[in-house]
Parts: sequence; structure tokens; C-alpha cells
Amino acid sequence: MKSRGVAILGSTGSIGTTALRVISRQRERFSITALTANTNAALLAEQQDEFRPGYVGLVDSSETARDDWRSGAACLVEASTLSGTDIVLNAIVGAAGLDATLAALRAGKRVALANKETLVVAGALAEEACREGGGEIVPVDSEHSAVLQCIASRPKSDVRRIILTASGGPFRGWSEDQLASATLEDALRHPTWTMGRKITIDSATLANKALEVIEAHFLFGIPYDRIDVVVHPQSIVHSFVEFVDGSVVAQMSLPTMELPVLYALTHPERLPDDGVAPFDPVSASPFTFEPVDMARFPALQMGIDAGRRGGAAPAVYNAANEQAVALFLAGKIRFGDIPRAIETALESLGDLPGKTREQLLAADAEARQMVMELF
Ligand code: NAD
Ligand code: MG
Repeated sequence: MKSRGVAILGSTGSIGTTALRVISRQRERFSITALTANTNAALLAEQQDEFRPGYVGLVDSSETARDDWRSGAACLVEASTLSGTDIVLNAIVGAAGLDATLAALRAGKRVALANKETLVVAGALAEEACREGGGEIVPVDSEHSAVLQCIASRPKSDVRRIILTASGGPFRGWSEDQLASATLEDALRHPTWTMGRKITIDSATLANKALEVIEAHFLFGIPYDRIDVVVHPQSIVHSFVEFVDGSVVAQMSLPTMELPVLYALTHPERLPDDGVAPFDPVSASPFTFEPVDMARFPALQMGIDAGRRGGAAPAVYNAANEQAVALFLAGKIRFGDIPRAIETALESLGDLPGKTREQLLAADAEARQMVMELF
């Protein structure tokens, strides 16, 4: 494999720093062409000194930037379309990552996609951008990386069903009363994964799994009635694919994002890498599976329904969730207010048109506004 140029958007976050750790072990294979961050100028400067990218962008122009940095949201699209870049790792959180994904795909790049919100807000536009520009999306999300590895090169017609696993989050098994008084600290205590704050809250509400069902629908072209979710608290089996003959293939590993990040860079090849502890089935045991408690975690069903509804509904779901999670993280609303906010936004705005980028962004903005006014 020749050395490939990688642009990392959101390099200062949980996935971004994981990717730089993986790439620092694979220096002959990958070079960093661009790094971008939202606000963390200090860490971005350290990363620039270590990886020497030709392009550095800091979105928030109120932060102190170095003279050779670009600033403002436009830097995300610039960083995604540089001629020396083969792979754009989109590790931005939220719908803010949308334009960069679309631009990279139109420019014919591989997008290693952690930013699942892109596909939730505008899955059809991302497909269109791939067709137009010849780009491709390879998932970073561990479940979707697992599905990709299980399907290998079999055609879609061989797949009967995808079963996504979910850890169940910190509130698995909590009663209604316990959930009603759940604190921010409780919600941030994820049992198996260390991640950014937004996705950690999404894992507690199970909104993350709804986003992942929609993501799987677009990535693999599988209808919603053939995508299931099962709770697997140990996070060892990252998902299953059931084939038309009834055979089921699963992918497993210890819960570290280093593996799916590296695989998204190398797919369909594999690179020797010894950064991850060896897998021992005995010490990882037992593996257990249980159904999702849909009644206690209503954000999951609402998200799947929004996916089926199509149009702007998934974008409204996503935006209402992003806004509600931001309010919860700021200590302004309670845990149970998050699904309530999503429900209210979907009731009023779920049928908005959602064909074009402009319509989707308008629906996104309306949903955020509505949630702000609710509290
Ligand atoms: P994070 O909050 O740790 O990092 C987010 C990064 O995006 C930071 O570098 C930040 O500077 C940048 N960013 C934030 N807002 C931005 C904006 N408006 N414009 C430009 N840049 C912005 O988040 P994370 O946990 O690394 O998650 C990133 C994405 O990966 C999310 O979509 C998440 O769902 C997905 N993901 C994360 C994990 C994980 O283990 N952390 C696993 C699977 C999927
Ligand atoms: Mg995931």
C-alpha cells in the first residue's frame, strides 16, 4: 500500500485523537494533510507540531490562531478537498459535519465517516454526492465497521438482516423512577466506551442507536424492517449479519475505536498493527444479549420512525436531539426532557420538505429553535 494523505476534521476530539494515535504507529503508510478543530487551539497547535500537515483550520475565529491557520466554518470544506488528500476522516460531532462530507465525496475522496449525523440529516444527498464525484464512505462507527467486515464482498442480495448491538448505556436496567432523577454525572458514566460528551448522552438515551439504524440503512442499502437492535452489555460483539441461507457472521474485538478507525483507512486491506491488546475469549466472557427496553428509551423508536418517514424527519430528529443534549449538558433540562423535546419537534416539523440541502438545513434550524423555546 502506498502512503496515503489523510485529512482529519475534528482532530482534537475523541475520535480525532484516537486516529492520530493510530496513525503515529503507521507513519510510512499515512501522512497528515490537514487538521481542523472547533475551539481547542492549544491541542491543535501541538498536533501541528507533531504531524506537520500542510493545512490547519480552526473554526472558531474568536480563539487565538497561529498566523498560518485558516479560520471560520469554510475551512472544513477547504480541508476536505485538498488535492493531496486521499482520505477525509470526518470526526466532527453533529450536523456541522455535513458540508465537509458532501464536498469530500464530490471531490472523489474516501470519507472515513465517524460523523454519523451526516447520513442521518442527508443520507440521500451523500449518496448523490458519491455518484457525482466518485467518492466513497467507509464507516468508522464500530457497529457499521463490523457489518462491513461481516458482509465482506458479498452482494447486498445475500444479506437477510443486520443486527446492530448496543451496550445499553449507563441506564440499562434502571427503573422509571431512577431514570426520572438521573443526573448529568450518571449519564456521562458510560459502562464500556470513553467518547465525546454528546455521543455519551446519545448512548444513555439510545438516540445513538437510532442514528445508527438510519446510518446502516444508507450505508448498506438495507430496508428498515431488516435492521434490528439487540443489547449486548459487554461491547465485544460489534454487530451481526444474517445471510439469506440463515448463517450469521459476527465481528468482535475489545471495545476500542482504534480498530474501526484503522480499518476505515485501509479497507478492504488490513495492516499489521500491534497497538491493541490481544483478544482472549475466556477473559472477555461471558457475552450476553437481551432485548432493548423500547418503552423506557423512547428516543430509539422515534428515531427509527423518523428514518422510515424520510423527508426532513430524520434531520428534525437529529437537530432536536442535538439541541436538547446541549441543554442537558449545560444543566438546563432534565434527562427525560430530551425525548420529550424530540417528540414535540417531530410532531410539528416532521413533515417539512427535505429534498435539498437548503430544505434540510431550514428544518434543522427550525427544530433547534423550537427546542430552545420549549424550555
Ligand atoms: P468530540 O466532541 O470528542 O470531538 C468532536 C470534534 O469535532 C472536536 O475536534 C471538535 O473540535 C470538532 N467540532 C465540534 N463542533 C464542531 C463544529 N461546529 N465545527 C467544526 N468542528 C467541530 O466527539 P467524538 O466523540 O470524537 O465524536 C465525533 C463523531 O464521531 C460524532 O459524530 C460521534 O457520533 C462519532 N462517533 C464517536 C465515537 C467515539 O468513540 N467517540 C464512536 C463512534 C462514533
Ligand atoms: Mg457506534
